[in-house]
Amino acid sequence: MSEVNVNIEYSGSWTPDQPIIDIRGLHKSFGSFEVLKGIDLSVQQGEVVCIIGPSGSGKSTLIRTINGLTPVNAGEIFIEGQLITGPKFDKLALRRKVGMVFQQYNLFPHRTVLDNVMMAPRLVLKEPKSEVRERARALLAKVRLGDKENHYPGELSGGQQQRVAIARSLCMRPDMMLFDEVTAALDPETVKEVLTTIKELAADGMTCVLVTHEMGFAREIADRVIFTDAGRIVEAGPPAQIFGDPQDARTREFLSQVL
Ligand code: ADP
Ligand code: MG
Repeated sequence: MSEVNVNIEYSGSWTPDQPIIDIRGLHKSFGSFEVLKGIDLSVQQGEVVCIIGPSGSGKSTLIRTINGLTPVNAGEIFIEGQLITGPKFDKLALRRKVGMVFQQYNLFPHRTVLDNVMMAPRLVLKEPKSEVRERARALLAKVRLGDKENHYPGELSGGQQQRVAIARSLCMRPDMMLFDEVTAALDPETVKEVLTTIKELAADGMTCVLVTHEMGFAREIADRVIFTDAGRIVEAGPPAQIFGDPQDARTREFLSQVL
């Protein structure tokens, strides 16, 4: 089952009642291997969407297309009403609007935590230092690392480094955040603090699309859960439905293995 996609044509003047992310008929192949076989998905502002599914089903590829990291073969993606899959779009503006956090946080090891958070707005957006510093400090306080600004990444736990990566992404003031298995590489004891940070962000109204293997977390945080398998959306719905009463045999099989 794919989502029913309301066929709104954008005039370039996007309003928040229209989908903030609108994906239509998306296909992506690597060579002759078709990874995404026609994805339709729209996300409203403030919505929290969790993507679950077996390894290799195309989850990472899907969310990487949303911020332009992976070019697509067919279909369209609109971000705030702007077509980003056409030949002409402003990559920089897109990166500013769409924040992304990966499993590997890749902080700069020889820069302090504060410098890591400040770097993109300073170098990419050329924003004034004092303004960026103030914002970076507020974000570090928000992810509960206000006392670590002068530390180096290597002095922090994995969970703390991942929270720095989240603050770093937020420092670009994105309108939406994408998370790709951000806790998968963490020690179990630091997973929770990262999930708490994401939960708080969602509660503040941030639009979030998350790929996660943390089913309890997905159930708790998601407005909608999307189950993908072999490049297709098999089933989508509120968490109570997907986890409590899955309709498709593939969803049931996947959940029986991970729950
Ligand atoms: P998931 O995140 O659900 O595990 P991915 O989107 O990472 O799935 O990958 C889906 C499939 O596409 C996998 O079989 C993977 O090997 C393949 N794939 C992903 N990225 C590339 C790439 N850059 N080149 C070739 N194959 C790729
Ligand atoms: Mg993946």
